[in-house]
Amino acid sequence: MNSSSAPSASPNSFDKLALSPAALANLQRLGYVEMTAIQVESLPPALEGKDVIAQAKTGSGKTAAFALALLAKMDARDFSVQALVLCPTRELADQVTTEIRRLARAEDNVKVVTLAGGVPLRGQTTSLERGAHVVVGTPGRVIDHLERGNLNLDALTTLVLDEADRMLDMGFVDDISKVAKFCPAQRQTLLFSATYPDEIAKLAARFMRNPVTVKVAAQHSNDQIEQRWYEVSADQRLPSVARLLEHFRPESSLAFCNTKARCRALAELLQAQGYSALELHGDLEQRDRDQVLVRFVNGSCSVLVATDVAARGLDVTNLAAVINVDVTPDPEVHVHRIGRTGRAGQSGLALSLATMDEMGSVGRIEQLQGSASVWYPLSELTPTAGEHLMPTKATVHIQASRKDKIRPGDVLGALTADLGYTREQIGKIDINDFATYVAVDRNIARDVVAGLNNGRIKGRTVKARLLKD
Ligand code: ADP
Ligand code: MG
Repeated sequence: MNSSSAPSASPNSFDKLALSPAALANLQRLGYVEMTAIQVESLPPALEGKDVIAQAKTGSGKTAAFALALLAKMDARDFSVQALVLCPTRELADQVTTEIRRLARAEDNVKVVTLAGGVPLRGQTTSLERGAHVVVGTPGRVIDHLERGNLNLDALTTLVLDEADRMLDMGFVDDISKVAKFCPAQRQTLLFSATYPDEIAKLAARFMRNPVTVKVAAQHSNDQIEQRWYEVSADQRLPSVARLLEHFRPESSLAFCNTKARCRALAELLQAQGYSALELHGDLEQRDRDQVLVRFVNGSCSVLVATDVAARGLDVTNLAAVINVDVTPDPEVHVHRIGRTGRAGQSGLALSLATMDEMGSVGRIEQLQGSASVWYPLSELTPTAGEHLMPTKATVHIQASRKDKIRPGDVLGALTADLGYTREQIGKIDINDFATYVAVDRNIARDVVAGLNNGRIKGRTVKARLLKD
């Protein structure tokens, strides 16, 4: 999104790490916006030089976790092998090499050589002679080169055992010990594995020093996210969303529908009932889409109604709840939907409505998640006494944009120094190419608009209005 008063970097952003500006810029180019869970856990100790045992399921980004750590301390001017990554198979070694090269684009000329079986030794020997900073290989082939004197590990600082569980399954224990004997005792050892059988602990005890152990549970949905299912009739579906909102009162929620028509119907119904609900759909113009997102992210809209396609790429760090208004026929999509709540150690709520017709899709979701759905009666949904669910903030739209060289500090100054509001009454300030949006406490919103229309920002008069749902 566009600029704002406070840095909107998420807690899992890579720039929290001790990485060079070039490395951070490269990550951004690669589209690595947030660290994955295992990266969050393993990168800080690994970058500190500690030995780390990291366990997380396949596809969780383990390669970048060790690659960034070994690249951070690489000295590209020194043409000796500084890091060795052992992998169980040639295919995995090739994949790891590719990923390290992508991540190394930031550093000047880091050479990565793959040493795996299935190809003649000769080409590999030549590559080693030309100088390699990182070697990625399978244990057997690496030993071959070590014993022939083609590969020297005296300057090695990092040893990585990748997919350690598979290397054990494939009987590489003795080979790994043999390789380790060629490595300096003073080194960092990183062990990555999808599972954690007892033998891993034994392996670690032999090769590692005071390792830090980090694990990321396989099913995010089971731990952080409470899932509740409700069976509804077709007529009950949309009105039930309002009942969920009144009962659970989530500060912010994303309601997924399978079709645009359903989104529209739901948004209209909620708005008619006085909820602050907005619809995100593919037909919106860019500026309208920006405006919807600004209002949702700054806390002045409680419910965002969207299709899966429209919500793609939507990066909201902490949603109190996800509501599945329709059950998605694709179980992977369900996991993806609910994964938008319960992030960064917070607990999340995933509420799903299903009609009898959708039970087949529910079954596929259960199979994928490996657990049965837990059903609750609609009758448990009783409105909490007191106020209708409303967001705490409202958005003031100011007709002045980045093109007018206006900055968040200018807006904040007008509101605090000129109009006398406190910093605490003001929320996020977004300035984009079309407009400026400032979130303020709902109860002062009208006065803020009047004050701005009678005052000045950066010496200019401005037009302000309240955005209504
Ligand atoms: P693992 O070794 O845990 O099975 P990989 O390291 O192969 O997983 O990563 C899986 C995919 O995720 C790769 O395509 C990788 O490029 C991508 N990836 C890794 N980290 C990130 C990140 N922080 N953001 C986006 N994509 C990432
Ligand atoms: Mg891997």
